[in-house]
Amino acid sequence: MSIIVQKFGGTSVADSQKILAAARKAIRARVEGHQVVMVVSAMGQNTDLLVDLARQISDDPPPREMDMLLSTGEQVSVALMAMAIHSLGHEAISLTGAQIGIITDSIHTKARIRSISTDRIRRYLKEGKIVIAAGFQGIDKADNITTLGRGGSDTTAVALAAVLGAEACEIYTDVDGVYTTDPRIVPEARKVARISYDEMLELATVGAGVMHNRSIEFAKKFSVPVHVRSSFSDTPGTMIVHEPEAKNLPVCGAALSKDEARVTVRGVPDRPGTASTLFTQIAANNIAMDMIVQSEGAQGRADMSFAVARDDLPKTLKIVEGVVQELSAEGCICDDNVAKISVVGLGMATQPGVAGTMFRTLAEKGINIDMITTSEIKISVLVERQHAVEALRIVHNAFHLNQPPEDGAGKAPPAAHGKVNPAELVDRLEKVARLERLEKLIIDGITLDESQAMVTLVGLSDIPGLAAQTFDELAEAGIVVDMIVQSIGRDNRADISLTIKREDLKKTLQVAEELARGLNCPPPTHNSQVAKLSVFGTGIKSYSGVASRMFKALSAAEINLDLIGTSEVRVNVVVDGKQGAKALEVLKQEFADALV
Ligand code: ADP
Ligand code: ASP
Ligand code: MG
Repeated sequence: MSIIVQKFGGTSVADSQKILAAARKAIRARVEGHQVVMVVSAMGQNTDLLVDLARQISDDPPPREMDMLLSTGEQVSVALMAMAIHSLGHEAISLTGAQIGIITDSIHTKARIRSISTDRIRRYLKEGKIVIAAGFQGIDKADNITTLGRGGSDTTAVALAAVLGAEACEIYTDVDGVYTTDPRIVPEARKVARISYDEMLELATVGAGVMHNRSIEFAKKFSVPVHVRSSFSDTPGTMIVHEPEAKNLPVCGAALSKDEARVTVRGVPDRPGTASTLFTQIAANNIAMDMIVQSEGAQGRADMSFAVARDDLPKTLKIVEGVVQELSAEGCICDDNVAKISVVGLGMATQPGVAGTMFRTLAEKGINIDMITTSEIKISVLVERQHAVEALRIVHNAFHLNQPPEDGAGKAPPAAHGKVNPAELVDRLEKVARLERLEKLIIDGITLDESQAMVTLVGLSDIPGLAAQTFDELAEAGIVVDMIVQSIGRDNRADISLTIKREDLKKTLQVAEELARGLNCPPPTHNSQVAKLSVFGTGIKSYSGVASRMFKALSAAEINLDLIGTSEVRVNVVVDGKQGAKALEVLKQEFADALV
């Protein structure tokens, strides 16, 4: 008999009527002949209330006790859900994460799943019971309760679907699918019929709160089709699968992460190992960094900037202060008044002009860009928080995301809403059996691209429109830019570094020199032969240690980093061209254990 996993989020179980409505959905699937596993979140805002309560008692509650506290929210829901199903005349049993045997590591409040035993669930399913699993929680080897991070019930659901060989994983929530951006912020956002794992993973990580990003890593790794749909209606939602909605779409969605902070470490001695020292220490504290940017400073010193969640800022600053001392850097500045706007799309890599359009759109509204980073399928910018909502909306509309794509427009979700065929299920279960840790980092490959050159515009006055002007002029000259990094340097002046094909170097320098002259700033610098190294796979960013392992390994080999770009699925670094082959070897060795 086929297994279906149905997950209900907080708003979908916010009161007794909603719990009964969710129970009826599960019963319907049971009556249709499926074995049903429900994964349930804490009711309504319960987790937030528990967090508030803890904060009233302590500024810095022990993470172990936070997990003990937060896990109770889900325990309430599963018990009530089981009662609801009983009251409707069907059999059900509720289980906590520990009772199921969801074993995690011991990183409280951000634990990762190591293994899940399925015996107990299977036994109850065979007895005809609907199994109700508490989302978001597990237990470590020493029997401590752990939680998977906010929004983690999605990850419980997809992980259970993977290990049980479920035919479908349905995520019931308070929107009827995945939209091109949060429809509560931008009402003209469009529901997409289908989105690829890679796109959803990036969107989820840069702020699309509709799915927990780690649930998508699971889904991708084990090919679990995920159906995001409304708890309150029966309309088909969005399928998250391998293939995108339309081929070559440069942008499929936009997202906002409102509460970000920017940290710049100034005057870091520009030698191998400095990036590594800084980022290793931050990663060791399980703080996720984004938009890591290193810009050329003056007199052999560099500035390093990155973004962290605003909540992580105090802890980050403490670490950075120590590192400033250790490295004899000049100091550190931060800005906790910023928000991150990102656009994501698989087709971006092959279509020039996406960055230019984004920058120009913001410039036309006078919105200044503080920092830029790009990856193959994502562009992120930091802007002042007060402009964030407007910025998201105009960027969303600039890419016509409110209209269906021409190619693949409005296509219905794949037949039967993504049910998996039996052969695929066998494959998936074999993969589960092979992995000694379910959320283990997997590196799919490490590549070296030696065809690029790098140009840096230094000391540009930081005015709205600067990036837009630069990219318009480059686009006009027919130059395709690969990596783009902008950061604020000295005296509020911006540096923009970009990599291009080596054959475009001359043209790029012409454009850059003219620009620098027009803006009255120093001539651009360049390196005609750089090497770009990419490490890509699954779990790359949520394991904040990957970037720092790269930096550490490269610095140990005395290789200096010129540019850094991170995304959910890869970390790119640019080094001097002469070091490319050596850097590739170093990285292959470093990640030998995770390479598939
Ligand atoms: P649940 O409690 O069911 O897990 P969440 O609040 O975690 O629900 O996620 C659903 C919310 O995600 C929606 O109400 C919506 O405001 C928000 N959201 C953010 N980005 C998107 C998006 N791209 N598409 C749909 N919803 C989004
Ligand atoms: N209840 C948890 C939270 O609010 C987990 C979840 O809902 O996914 O973050
Ligand atoms: Mg959620």
